[in-house]
Amino acid sequence: FSTAAHPFNETIYALSSGQGKSGVAVIRVSGKDSKLAVYKLLNRTTLLKPRYAYLTSIYNPVTKELLDKGLVLWFPGPNSFTGEDVCEFQVHGGTAIISSILQSLRSLDNFRLARPGEFTKRAFYNKKLDLVEAEGLADLINAETEMQRKQALIQSQGLLSKTYIKWKDELTTALMNFESLFNFENIDETNEAVALKNINNVITRVCEEVTNHLDDGKRGQLLRTGVKTAIIGEPNVGKSSLYNFLCKKKAAIVTPYPGTTRDTLEYYIDLFGYPVILYDTCGIRYRDVNLIEAEGVQVTLDTIKSSELLILVIDAGKYHVWLNHTPNGDMLCYVKDYIINELQVPDIINRGANSLRYLFQKRCLIVLNKIDKIEIPIEGEDLKDVSCISVSTNAGLEQFLNNIKNKLTDICAEPSSENPAITKLRHRNLLETCQDNLNQYLESAENPALDYALLGNNLRCALRSLTEIIEGRRDNRPVNDVLDEIFHNFCIGK
Ligand code: GDP
Ligand code: ZN
Repeated sequence: FSTAAHPFNETIYALSSGQGKSGVAVIRVSGKDSKLAVYKLLNRTTLLKPRYAYLTSIYNPVTKELLDKGLVLWFPGPNSFTGEDVCEFQVHGGTAIISSILQSLRSLDNFRLARPGEFTKRAFYNKKLDLVEAEGLADLINAETEMQRKQALIQSQGLLSKTYIKWKDELTTALMNFESLFNFENIDETNEAVALKNINNVITRVCEEVTNHLDDGKRGQLLRTGVKTAIIGEPNVGKSSLYNFLCKKKAAIVTPYPGTTRDTLEYYIDLFGYPVILYDTCGIRYRDVNLIEAEGVQVTLDTIKSSELLILVIDAGKYHVWLNHTPNGDMLCYVKDYIINELQVPDIINRGANSLRYLFQKRCLIVLNKIDKIEIPIEGEDLKDVSCISVSTNAGLEQFLNNIKNKLTDICAEPSSENPAITKLRHRNLLETCQDNLNQYLESAENPALDYALLGNNLRCALRSLTEIIEGRRDNRPVNDVLDEIFHNFCIGK
């Protein structure tokens, strides 16, 4: 895991700024022969003063032809992004200029174009950043909304790693103390019991902290990937109208989401800085159970199942609607003499899937649309959980947006530097392994006939999971496919 174990013989270069024409382009060079780029392209015999911007002429090293005039910076290792010697060219961003400089670099001995993420990969191997920080950096570059940017910045600055490093250090000490219990043959039993008790206290606390960290409702992961939100309800209640309002009026469309299905429209939008994957579904007649087998309905049901947030639209003009809270905290939505219970609706559609019940309980916004059609005011003890709107007249839409914002804040929470959330499945899986092993340790430690080998093994496994999160390695061997997957998702030049 040292630089020596990974001798990067080749010097790499790439366009680090965006592709295509631009005002300024940045070309980055990293590796042990980076100084050649300074000598040959600037036609000099000495290096530049480190970390100073030089306005200078840049030449083709073979023909000596002038290519451009630009700023060149020299960062000798290890005080550079990659930890290697780095040279950075800031030139005019024309495509011909860029390609002439890339071509000139290619002509130098041992120089080659960098692969995606290769600069960051070298920085990682040279311990300039850990794997969690590198993943944060990739997310930062890919961030499309404000909250995603905040979360990725927190992670790329090491605030998430900090938690894992703290646990790793605590478990390392605990394991050392545990092992030293057997190295002192004359240790008396009382001392041993006290020492073991201290170790167990540490394990208990770390286990609690890991468990709390895991119990986050996946807020960080949802913020990273987008909150799947489905607009559902009977046909003709105004779902598509509401969908269009959200997509076109109030939300900047970030990208059309790939894989748009036939029966369910989906769009990736930015709502108050939260990324939302919004689905418009085709309607389900909740009272008509026979329709459930219809094909389009199946697609809708799948969308509902995989969504984190549901927006249930009801036609206020069609029904006499009011709402009520039961003593046990369920919300009942009365529609004429028919009761749509938040908890009953999924039963009708899905015949008792518990996960769906949960979604409805926690993650459903109820919208009464077409209030322009009704003359009597909507009755109810407490309408704060419900949005009464008219997409036609725009009535209530601000309040509705505010309700969505609150739900999204509930689901994702604002990224916090003090308490950063898990952002990736890779981390979650390894943390769960860590938690399992700590729990097994604590269980076995209760047993009067202590199995020291087993206990030690549990501690080592827990520790190994944490090490893999931060360093991507197991037992001193980097897990190459993990690293490849992470760095290949970067763009070229980073
Ligand atoms: P969907 O089938 O649930 O997607 O409903 P649509 O969005 O296609 O709307 C069905 C019909 O209701 C259309 O004719 C809309 O113009 C109309 N509509 C939608 N919202 C409102 C509203 O707030 N008030 C009134 N009066 N009509 C509406
Ligand atoms: Zn529709």
